[in-house]
Amino acid sequence: MKVDLHTHTNASDGALTPEALVGLARESGVTLLSVTDHDTAAGCLRAQKAAKEAGIAFIPGVELSVRWGGTVLHVVGLGIDPEDPVVVERFRETARLRAERGVKMGEAFERIGLAGAYEGALARADSPQTLSRTHFAAWLLETGVVKNQQQAFDRYLREGGPAYVEAPWPSLEEGVRFLLDRGALPVLAHPGRYRLRPGWEADAMVDAFVAAGGRGIEVTSGSQSEEANVRYAQVARDRKLLASTGSDWHSDRSPRPRPGCQPPLPADLTPVWTLFGYA
Ligand code: AMP
Ligand code: MN
Ligand code: MN
Ligand code: MN
Repeated sequence: MKVDLHTHTNASDGALTPEALVGLARESGVTLLSVTDHDTAAGCLRAQKAAKEAGIAFIPGVELSVRWGGTVLHVVGLGIDPEDPVVVERFRETARLRAERGVKMGEAFERIGLAGAYEGALARADSPQTLSRTHFAAWLLETGVVKNQQQAFDRYLREGGPAYVEAPWPSLEEGVRFLLDRGALPVLAHPGRYRLRPGWEADAMVDAFVAAGGRGIEVTSGSQSEEANVRYAQVARDRKLLASTGSDWHSDRSPRPRPGCQPPLPADLTPVWTLFGYA
């Protein structure tokens, strides 16, 4: 079984439509897939239909942005119901916040002498409501302001960077509670990717996630280092967390592995998908 429980479509900041993402996953040999767009499940129904036609098992998902102290964390919710009216209404509100932030980011770029950022980012997004920092990065890259996507984040878009605008995301506790209340399984996304000091600060993050009701953790992720994969395999063992894995694929603009091509989970861990009835 080749599993990828963390991918993006153009319902958020991925480059491909849900159908095209499923097509790429099939080409890559994925047999169990989840689509986990940022703060929306809007691509899941189309992806689910395409996955069924392609003979790929599918778990609907979402990647929630939450605040933990001064850090933005991502929590994947596996098994979210994209048609649940409470889910739909909440993500509609988050989309409104995203649209507002996009305008403010455009203004921040203008203040540092980069005009046309908002229009440029919007031209690369599906709608103002899905505008992500990734779309601004694509504009910076394609207009030659930066040489690669990493430079776009390092110079402009990183937390605290000159074009960064804080978004009013929910707290870690409230986000995890929301997922549990809607019957979804909260999984801490790419734990090795946050700017936290290894050791106590990273431990405190896992403590807070578990205390909030978190159940799973991404042990191997296409968006964290091999060293982090090893470290969080041990965290999953020590804390008896369910282990998840995902490429976090968005587009070929980033050097991340293609769907399903992130390193596999160590065999001794309990995979999160056993809870969804997959062996
Ligand atoms: P947003 O949710 O709009 O604040 O955008 C966050 C998104 O930016 C993340 O989901 C990643 O896809 C992307 N991102 C953040 N940091 C980096 C980075 N250093 N390199 C590439 N993409 C990044
Ligand atoms: Mn993203
Ligand atoms: Mn993420
Ligand atoms: Mn992601």
